[in-house]
Amino acid sequence: MKKWVYFFGAGKAEGDGTWRDLLGGKGAGLAEMTKIGLPVPAGFTISTEACDYYYKHDKEFPPELKKQVSDHVAKLERATKKKLGDPKNPLLVSVRSGSARSMPGMMETILNLGLNDRSVAGIASVTKNERFAYDAYRRFVQMYSTVVMGLSKEDLEHRLRGMKNRLGVKEDTAVPASGWRELVAEYKSYFREKSGRDFPDDPMEQLWGAIGAVFGSWMAEKAVTYRRVEKITGLLGTAVNVVQMVFGNTGENSGTGVCFTRDPSSGEEIFYGDYLVNAQGEDVVAGIRTPMPLREMATTMPKVYSQLEKVRVRLEKHYRDMQDMEFTVEEGKLYMLQTRTGKRTPAAAFRMAVDMANEKLISTEEALERIKPEDIERLFYPVLDPKLPRTELASRKLAEGINAVPGAAVGKAVFTAAEAEHWAERGEKVILVRRETSPEDVGGMYVAQGILTATGGKTSHAAVVARGWGKCCIVGAEKLDIDAEAKKMSSNGRVVHQGDWITLDGGDGSVYSGEIDLARPEPPKAYETLMKWTDKIRKIGVRTNADTPQDARAARQMGAEGIGLCRTEHMFFKDFEHPEKSAERQQAIQEMILADTSDARRKALAKLLPFQRRDFIGIFEAMDGLPVTIRLIDPPLHEFVPHDPAKQAELAKKIGVAPEAVARRVEQLHEANPMLGFRGCRLCIIFPEILEMQVQAIIEAAIDCQKRKVKVLPEIMHPLTLDKKELKILETETRKVADAIISEAKVKLEYLVGTMIELPRAALLAGEIAEVAEFFSFGTNDLTQTTMGLSRDDAGRFLPEYVDERKAGIFKADPFQTLDSEGVGLLVKWAIEHGRRTRPKLKVGICGEHGGDGDSVKFCHQVGMNYVSASPFRVPIARLAAAQAVIEERKNGKRKK
Ligand code: PEP
Ligand code: MG
Repeated sequence: MKKWVYFFGAGKAEGDGTWRDLLGGKGAGLAEMTKIGLPVPAGFTISTEACDYYYKHDKEFPPELKKQVSDHVAKLERATKKKLGDPKNPLLVSVRSGSARSMPGMMETILNLGLNDRSVAGIASVTKNERFAYDAYRRFVQMYSTVVMGLSKEDLEHRLRGMKNRLGVKEDTAVPASGWRELVAEYKSYFREKSGRDFPDDPMEQLWGAIGAVFGSWMAEKAVTYRRVEKITGLLGTAVNVVQMVFGNTGENSGTGVCFTRDPSSGEEIFYGDYLVNAQGEDVVAGIRTPMPLREMATTMPKVYSQLEKVRVRLEKHYRDMQDMEFTVEEGKLYMLQTRTGKRTPAAAFRMAVDMANEKLISTEEALERIKPEDIERLFYPVLDPKLPRTELASRKLAEGINAVPGAAVGKAVFTAAEAEHWAERGEKVILVRRETSPEDVGGMYVAQGILTATGGKTSHAAVVARGWGKCCIVGAEKLDIDAEAKKMSSNGRVVHQGDWITLDGGDGSVYSGEIDLARPEPPKAYETLMKWTDKIRKIGVRTNADTPQDARAARQMGAEGIGLCRTEHMFFKDFEHPEKSAERQQAIQEMILADTSDARRKALAKLLPFQRRDFIGIFEAMDGLPVTIRLIDPPLHEFVPHDPAKQAELAKKIGVAPEAVARRVEQLHEANPMLGFRGCRLCIIFPEILEMQVQAIIEAAIDCQKRKVKVLPEIMHPLTLDKKELKILETETRKVADAIISEAKVKLEYLVGTMIELPRAALLAGEIAEVAEFFSFGTNDLTQTTMGLSRDDAGRFLPEYVDERKAGIFKADPFQTLDSEGVGLLVKWAIEHGRRTRPKLKVGICGEHGGDGDSVKFCHQVGMNYVSASPFRVPIARLAAAQAVIEERKNGKRKK
């Protein structure tokens, strides 16, 4: 018979920490902690396979499940020596979700299950605390009503507030037993009114309702959104953990908390967390009360604290990673309720990986595997412009909160998640301001630049979710008086209305009015160390796509080892070193395009020559001895000329021709399908004088540098070729021009001539093309476009549906972002193989956007490219992915053996 349920308790467990796929993270963690002898309440886990079955069978439970759950309840009753529903000493359980990947707060939990009018008396007499018993009872009825029955949280809260008003009390802790009892009755009659039946008294009926609700929450909107945003795919579903309840809210000697084995914000090796005295676990996570720092526990509950310290050391050693743990103290006794690998900021991810490798807790390879491409991206998150005077800052200060996630953010204040999504859709930058966030807010949180809440600690929902994204977040800004209905907040004597700019500094938790400039920070020390490790391991080179000396310099700082693509035409419109000369070069290029004869074209090109030569000198100097691939003109010419009559007239005047002549020429250049039209190397086949000018500029720049002892390795690249003969014409012309200049200058200068592979035909005929080309660079933007027949400019209209798991779900990822290794990848492999058959030393790289995408870089490594080329800020991502590719390969090799 298939086993669906797994037990843990009294030092034994059916499973361990590695069973995450089957038991979910929480279930596996509980099993593991039980096994290694930590204090864990007993319970059982219904597997993720049962959830999978449930969804594959029209929301029916597996037939054997009923009996297995009953048997496990009986086992749990034996282990705890308590019985569900017992009027004397009842067993109460929590029912919690938990999938293989952590999805904080996205799915459901029900606490205190097993309470009814009889068992509540048992709890009151066992604990000698009637008030506590009825408080637990009303919490249960409240959770059950909202989670299982989907009744309104607001309506129930409203009744709670009404009761407190009647009794004249402010704090929940001041409500007497009779108040809670009254509230239970009110909740139950509300339940009857809304659902048409009585609140279930039978604990087994309660349990099945809760199990169904947990399974149901797997497909709830917020959970599905979270998985999409986090790119979590391929999981079976959620497990259900049924665990004996322990109580942190029985008095001052009890409490509950969340702690981390290291600081999740900075990565520092300190014990870190929040706790609340006399509270139930949900109070910490929901951020309803602002908790105390964990270290205070060392004074208030020294014995428990030192026990917890030992658990910290043990769990981190055991899991060899930072753990995020939940605990409850019941009458001075510590219970561990959860352990999982903790979410961390990108800076903390680097620091922990490097520290743990240095401590020999993990290997260097493991340290590298732990960094995600997003961590690198988020590492360079902005901070407030340090040049802004302190007095100015002080005068703008609205409030202070807890700095939950660093970085800074600027945006317009909005007060609901839905509004955040609407505003962001129309392109506005927003800051989401809430009293507290709940998992329903996740869509709005994701699109916001930053998140600000009035309550909560560093482990509140807002903080945990934002940290995972590396998104600036300030919580517990208690001075903020937020009125979401009136769409405003006030603080420090100022009112902020919806749409007003505010700025958050997640570094110190300050909130400012207005729009403050942001600056990019310096990466932490651990970043440099870890990136050095990537360079030692990786086999594939990492170059950059850079068009200007500035970009080239920035890319070198990011670790680029050369330029894989310099798109020369990007320099036609702007002079980056001397902006005042931009108009002059623009005019030269436009004159060239508008020219009717080859002579007129040459004249215009002669004006462009000095500009291009200066650009290339700058780039060669910046790359100082590293290879530089320069691509000759690529885009269709019409992109460089004005299309509206006024601008055409202006240009006509400048270059001294009739406005009609300009209009006519622009009209001539018009194409129905320019991406497949007169562009790429076709331009130089028809107008060889463009090639002559560009090659001359490149070679003269190289000679100029070489004379000044700047080493140069130019690689001249022809775009969009589709035939060997076509490339031969271009190569012959290129060498003729280059060699003449070199011999006249009486120098020795090495250079390469190669081509981009951007068309399926070129890939298929790569064997022939390699007879001419000394190198290939895959232009996978165009190659994806032409192989898939998807326009790179227009596919955005429908491609998102192709990628969305809940919609068409045809592709796993956007093929313009992550290389389609199955389709386009086949052509790439074929081309490399056939190219190298002809020319074994053929140098091969990639320069499409995919060169900066982690998964695509791994593919490039696998197919044996020599290098990838990425935009400057993605260079570190490529370095990391290249190292990870080697590590994965070693592992797979070992596995095969
Ligand atoms: C490409 O097509 O992949 C490429 C790098 O060229 P561009 O993006 O300039 O067309
Ligand atoms: Mg291209």
